[in-house]
Amino acid sequence: MPASPPGPPASGSPPTPHIEVEGLELYYGSVPAVRGVNFNVMPGEQLTLLGPSGCGKTTTLRAVAGLEQPTAGEIRIDGVPVFSAARKINIPAEKRGLSMVFQSYAIWSHMTVFDNVAYGLRVRKAGAAEITEKVDRALDMVQMREFSGRRASQLSGGQQQRVALARAFVFQPSVLLFDEPLSNLDAKLRADMRIELRDLQHRLGITSLYVTHDLEEALAMSDRIVVLRDGLVEQTGTPDEIYSLPRSAFVADFIGSANLIRGRHRADLAVDDLIALETSDGHVIYGMAYGRPVGSELVVSVRTVHLRISLERPAATRNVWPARVEKTVFQGDFSQVHIGWGDQRLVARCAAMEPIAAGRDVYVTVEPRRVVLLGAAAL
Ligand code: ATP
Repeated sequence: MPASPPGPPASGSPPTPHIEVEGLELYYGSVPAVRGVNFNVMPGEQLTLLGPSGCGKTTTLRAVAGLEQPTAGEIRIDGVPVFSAARKINIPAEKRGLSMVFQSYAIWSHMTVFDNVAYGLRVRKAGAAEITEKVDRALDMVQMREFSGRRASQLSGGQQQRVALARAFVFQPSVLLFDEPLSNLDAKLRADMRIELRDLQHRLGITSLYVTHDLEEALAMSDRIVVLRDGLVEQTGTPDEIYSLPRSAFVADFIGSANLIRGRHRADLAVDDLIALETSDGHVIYGMAYGRPVGSELVVSVRTVHLRISLERPAATRNVWPARVEKTVFQGDFSQVHIGWGDQRLVARCAAMEPIAAGRDVYVTVEPRRVVLLGAAAL
């Protein structure tokens, strides 16, 4: 199926999502892998399913591909159901117009680049001229045409991954599904390929659903992210929303490291649209509710990168506390500083600096807007 261009929506009406997943459940016997997942992918969008191992990412992706049969729910592509438990619809994988790129990209090392990409077309009995045209075009997309005649075993890891991509593009799918496609590459190449894949996806405007447990990859590559936990959606949003406004302790901690601080709401101390909470050892911390309901017991999240440490008392008047350094862990470009703060320990991530000796008295401070109220589920 040719890629359907995003196309203008009918006047006033929102565009139809390219992929819609509604109430998806999938049990392996009695093991619940997916327990009620909902999300949409808009035309041309790159949506990432992110979460720790076992949260149901791959199962969800495979259900969209038609490689697993869900227990309940509905999956629509371009508004047309390809799976519906209630309506007993289950369109086979090869008729869904999707292509999948796997983690183990498993290209055949004894074959040439051309033959690897042509393989699927030959299986489908395409003619020689059509094969040449489509393979050349797919190889052009990933800038691998000059390697057409080379054996796959003589390619680098990144080049092999590009061949795997070309193999997916050759069918001109309307949607690409990626299952941790970069996880077999070394760290440097993975970082390069991230940018390359993102550019390619933008250039082609192809809708993609991407699975990874790698936070940086998800933040760098996605238009939106769905964070999954134990087979359920924990939060959906743009990378910035997920990073800056985590809804739960789980998201705050999984998406970059965060300090979670609990306390009692002190409505009487609220000033300038800020909320105030008091910890059990009497620290008052000002933060932002960002429209979330404010109960009597609160949990706020403060990213480790947003805590500042100084030897002199800073000029700020709010959220400044004397504290003591417990230890500093050198990690190259930055150091992790563990700070005793009353009964609690806070962790700050500081850009490389002169090491501060354990036992040193310092000031720790954080801007109130960086103190984010979490939802009630965090309690
Ligand atoms: P990973 O990042 O480790 O691949 P994931 O988030 O993709 O994890 P899934 O592979 O979707 O997770 O698995 C979700 C749950 O379903 C896990 O508890 C897993 O053990 C279970 N599971 C997956 N495949 C099967 C299977 N074929 N039979 C039984 N249980 C399975």
